Amino acid sequence: TVASPTSADLFEVHGTTSPASDAERAELLAAPRFGTVFTDHMARITYSQEDGWHHRRVEPYGPLQLDPATSVLHYAQEIFEGLKAYRHPDDSIWTFRPQSNAARFARSAHRLALPVLPEADFLGAIEALVRTDAAWVPAGEEKSLYLRPFMYASESFLGVRPSLEAEFLVIASPVGPYFAGGVRPVAIWVDQQLHRAGAGGTGDAKCGGNYAASLLPQQNAYAKGFEQVCFLDASTKTYLEELGGMNVVVVHADGSVVTPPVAGSILEGVTRSSILQLVADAGHEVSERPIALAELKAGLADGSVTEVFACGTAAVITPIGRLASDDFDLTVGDGTAGPVTTRTRAELTDIQYGRATDRHGWLHRI
Ligand code: PMP
Repeated sequence: TVASPTSADLFEVHGTTSPASDAERAELLAAPRFGTVFTDHMARITYSQEDGWHHRRVEPYGPLQLDPATSVLHYAQEIFEGLKAYRHPDDSIWTFRPQSNAARFARSAHRLALPVLPEADFLGAIEALVRTDAAWVPAGEEKSLYLRPFMYASESFLGVRPSLEAEFLVIASPVGPYFAGGVRPVAIWVDQQLHRAGAGGTGDAKCGGNYAASLLPQQNAYAKGFEQVCFLDASTKTYLEELGGMNVVVVHADGSVVTPPVAGSILEGVTRSSILQLVADAGHEVSERPIALAELKAGLADGSVTEVFACGTAAVITPIGRLASDDFDLTVGDGTAGPVTTRTRAELTDIQYGRATDRHGWLHRI
């Protein structure tokens, strides 16, 4: 594969005068809790209508000072991404399909009427930051450096129109295994009243507002003893969409693998696309088609559905052991992770961590 061009060399590096010491960093990397610890630096690019994208720099990680009228605080014109950098056994550092995140970020920007960031700058900012903070990429089982690129409307103006100024940043957080104590099946609540997105809305963009809409249903499910919510389509309340931060995949006794189509209201997950490729490679019949909740319930009851899992960058693949709502409560298979779930998870992480051949050219060297 041909390396994608990046603008990494255009970034000015303003190093921090107070980096974490080797001992402090080693302690933080030993058992990081998701999203709580950040590296010494952040990458940043500024946009203005006059100058376009300019002032590419890596600077010390620190607070942003915002005018109270900054438009993102009022109208939520904001988008983000999530991907990881992995340290391989030979100490080289790689990201996984970052061009897909760059493309999704561009689609999100378009939907939120934000300026589109060129792919070379998306990749360049990540590369410049990860090179500067390379010591923060942890080594070891299921550890990685989680990268959070984001863009917000930075103009100080209360009119409801697209901001003429924007800031793009990348911050980075070392993360360990998503589940302490190994991969564990989760219990999912299917919400039949509240939705995260609707037809023609912003469900297929990665914008903060979608997550704000998912928090109350998530809180309700948590109070009932469930870990995550599965949303249904807002128009007919008939078909499965996705979880608050993961796509959903169903495996049948005949080996066929089915997932809801990307049709406007769900996010096109990079993990989802990669898994569909891996299971197709392994000989499974794969289809992207609407899955009615009624169909899934019947399949779980008669045994034709054997595995259900959720997938996304943070947790890779999460087996779903139980699916319930106001009017049903079903166990998936025997409630433990099934063979397709387990095997596909291992195949994907083996590629990401450099333990298996990257036959699809998904890895991008930093
Ligand atoms: N759906 C939603 C709503 C998400 O937030 C995410 C996480 N980005 C996903 C699906 C999975 O996407 P990916 O595999 O690219 O992480």
